[in-house]
Amino acid sequence: MKTLTTLLLAAALFAAVGCGKTPPPAAPAPAPAPAASTAAKEKDPVCGMDVAANAPLSMKEGAKTYHFCSQGCLDKFKADPKKYAK
Ligand SMILES: [Zn+2]
Repeated sequence: MKTLTTLLLAAALFAAVGCGKTPPPAAPAPAPAPAASTAAKEKDPVCGMDVAANAPLSMKEGAKTYHFCSQGCLDKFKADPKKYAK
């Protein structure tokens, strides 16, 4: 029965060592994903891109206000609004 005693002793020792181990540091919580923007979207009539309705680049043409992704698109629209306005 010496083998069993040795085995139990080894097991007890192992368990004791195991208990003394410091647990691995918890993984840092992932940063919360930014909330999906609920801002209204408008289509850039020149390039067809989605632009926030509160974007600074906009132009009133008739009854509608058009929004643009860039100054370049705004300039194109200004040059020929009839071509892009729908
Ligand atoms: Zn554009």
